[in-house]
Amino acid sequence: MIDEVRSWIEAARRVVVLSGAGISTDSGIPDFRGPQGLWTKNPLAEKMSNIHYYLADPEVRKLSWQNRLSSPAWHAKPNAGHSALVFLERRNKLHALITQNIDELHQIAGNSPEKVIEVHGTMRRFMCWGCGMRGPMQVVLERVRAGEADPPCRDCGGILKSDTISFGQQLVPEVIDRAMLAAGEADFFLAVGTSLQVYPVAGAVDVARGAGAKIVIVNAQPTPYDSMADAVLPGSISEVLSALVTPVRESASRSLQ
Ligand SMILES: [Zn+2]
Repeated sequence: MIDEVRSWIEAARRVVVLSGAGISTDSGIPDFRGPQGLWTKNPLAEKMSNIHYYLADPEVRKLSWQNRLSSPAWHAKPNAGHSALVFLERRNKLHALITQNIDELHQIAGNSPEKVIEVHGTMRRFMCWGCGMRGPMQVVLERVRAGEADPPCRDCGGILKSDTISFGQQLVPEVIDRAMLAAGEADFFLAVGTSLQVYPVAGAVDVARGAGAKIVIVNAQPTPYDSMADAVLPGSISEVLSALVTPVRESASRSLQ
């Protein structure tokens, strides 16, 4: 099946990728829904990721800042799965990379920021709920390290938060529109490491399908879209992606002949 999907990618001109938490687990960032996930292990984490609790309760915010400080994402390095998607872009096949991840590992791996559509925002930026100001997260984390348990906005005194979409928070319509538009332009759609259970993002698969794109799903667990996909590839995401898009070692074997 891998060889067949490789040939589809060879033929494709506009690959659109939708990535989820599963692509980052090999980089040491836990998937909060999975069996080893944060939510399963710590129900309070779910409360901290809910915007209503966050805005209403300073204690929730204090815990959230401590969590951000100690996030494994700050030291995480992109893995072979991320590198495979960079290779896809270097081959001029990547039309768009829609991601549900907030870790920016795609950009750190080398994908162009213009190609990456972050539907859930980024943890590497803060935003103010009072005045809408945004900036680098490290600036605020420095204040937390210096002793401010719940640092307010320096301009307006408003509540600061990571510039991510929490539960109970609206997605940014322009970003979702851009993602759906890209999905509708795909001739090959690759869903990677996402359970495809969160809408409207999962609907990108329907949009791509409607536009006639081949649908390939790479995920450790089954998804609701498996039956409509042209191929479903379980297993290690970094291994499967490497096998799909990085060159066969034929150049090495040829040179030996
Ligand atoms: Zn402000």
